[in-house]
Amino acid sequence: MYREFIVRTRSREECVSITSIVQEAVGSSGVSEGICVVYVPHTTAGVMIQESADPDVIADCLQVLRHMVPDGLAYRHGEGNSPAHMKASLVGSSVTVLVENGRLLLGTWQGIFLCEFDGPRTRRVWVMVR
Ligand code: ZN
Repeated sequence: MYREFIVRTRSREECVSITSIVQEAVGSSGVSEGICVVYVPHTTAGVMIQESADPDVIADCLQVLRHMVPDGLAYRHGEGNSPAHMKASLVGSSVTVLVENGRLLLGTWQGIFLCEFDGPRTRRVWVMVR
């Protein structure tokens, strides 16, 4: 059984910290030791683990993705949001985190982020703990 969380993004591109809602899902799962999978069922948004202490790291991630995926290429996709699809593929649609003592086993500086590339939108985050 998985849990669904709704995240409303506010910008065309942004990374929203979802660490606390994932931790809440772990805490309420009753699982003491296991794994937590965080999955985003979207093609223009992704999920990543990255530094949560300094927001400049997230800003740098978005800058690098914009550099890697230029807006002006001859994309074929008629919807006009191919860069968002490419960035979502680069980031990926899931992360897996170890669980111990009912807590996410994240490194000191790590956080979990929903990455929006075609917002603002309402996004879903699916979390399974086993
Ligand atoms: Zn599209």
